[in-house]
Amino acid sequence: MNASVKIHPAVDNGLKPAAENFAGGTLSCGCSSNKVEVAIKGQVAHNHVCGCSKCWKPEGALFAQIAVVSRDNVSVTANGDKLAVVDTNAAIQRHACKECGVHMYGRIENTGHPFHGLDFVHTERSTASGWAPPEFAAFVSSIIEAGYKPDGMGAVRARLVELNLPPYDCLSPPLMDAIAAHSAKSKSL
Ligand SMILES: [Zn+2]
Ligand SMILES: [Zn+2]
Repeated sequence: MNASVKIHPAVDNGLKPAAENFAGGTLSCGCSSNKVEVAIKGQVAHNHVCGCSKCWKPEGALFAQIAVVSRDNVSVTANGDKLAVVDTNAAIQRHACKECGVHMYGRIENTGHPFHGLDFVHTERSTASGWAPPEFAAFVSSIIEAGYKPDGMGAVRARLVELNLPPYDCLSPPLMDAIAAHSAKSKSL
């Protein structure tokens, strides 16, 4: 077993099942007072762990945990004045707390982007239980760029498989298919 490989606190002890008819919850930043709060209505989709260098990760975690939700179901409910976009040139505008650095939601403003209309959120910032658990691991090889030793990758991939998080070095096949279908459609216009 490869349980000594720590992926992310939300998955290291096994995945928790989604609740039926889940109503949503409120994400909070890491500040001890005047927390930024973001309310999410309903369940998230395509939750996954991500090894890319752009997604926000909790202290010490090898991967981020990130899901999507319709932007209409996301609203900043407290201390929104503490939010700033991390990189205004990135496709995903990641709105982070200026004080604690936690990313509260990522939004795509480019209407031609395949994932326009969806926001990216970290459900572990909410105390609610019943969020849809991660389904796969994306951009696994990218953890090497963040400093992980290449000879440890076999154990990381084995641990992801044990956790039922199939490891991919890009996004999952259904999401890669969605991107390709979107670009095929835009080309035929
Ligand atoms: Zn904060
Ligand atoms: Zn990522």
